[in-house]
Amino acid sequence: MRKKIVAGNWKMNKTFKEAEDLLFGIADALISGRPEDVEVVVCPPALYLELATDVATEHDFSCGAQNLSEHEAGAYTGEISAAMIRSTGAEYVILGHSERRIYFGEHDQLIGKKIQQALRHELIPIYCCGEVLEEREAGRHFQVVEKQLSEALSGLDAGAFSKVVIAYEPVWAIGTGRTASPEQAQEMHAFIRKVLASRFGEPAADDTTILYGGSCNAANARELFANPDVDGGLIGGASLKAEDFVKIVNSF
Ligand code: PEP
Repeated sequence: MRKKIVAGNWKMNKTFKEAEDLLFGIADALISGRPEDVEVVVCPPALYLELATDVATEHDFSCGAQNLSEHEAGAYTGEISAAMIRSTGAEYVILGHSERRIYFGEHDQLIGKKIQQALRHELIPIYCCGEVLEEREAGRHFQVVEKQLSEALSGLDAGAFSKVVIAYEPVWAIGTGRTASPEQAQEMHAFIRKVLASRFGEPAADDTTILYGGSCNAANARELFANPDVDGGLIGGASLKAEDFVKIVNSF
């Protein structure tokens, strides 16, 4: 049975004190009620990971980073390695986010290396894929996502792939307030599962958690999560307020 996950991507937000308040706010809101079968993952800036994992351990949620270096260690000023992230107690890492692709020039081959580096250090990659608006309007969204999947996951066998979580994040929906309709999300998630089945086999594809991301919030999460191939969400803006984030967790 595949896992349901709601993950919050804080991006480059919050000072130390604000991060502390948000973490305890999430912890408090989760105490008031949450579905037992949903894993909650908080991905703050890496600077706060140790603090976050301390709170998370006490309150039964998990933590993840937002990026990692494809290198093991050494003279890579400003970079953060998979081993460093894992040593904080974090279990997940978001890779291939469209903001990394657009602002930092990350491409599928590099992201593929990062996925392998994460797996080497027992971090679960949340691999983000999704088309830009022009690609959707040109009817090329399936083709684009299929290519992103096949290139970034090409180095993995079914065993290694079984640890990977996929997040479908149409770029036109990220931070725009324009959400994919439940039908659009389901259609793409089912397509992704089909692509994964042809590459890694049907059992592996069936067991893969596929998250939806892109302006998902407390008002629309329930409709999105009701789809059979939508196994949760990767939440940006709405993960910055504890109450909103936990409402989304409770939308299953
Ligand atoms: C994201 O950045 O992963 C995301 C889904 O952002 P938002 O929810 O703000 O659209």
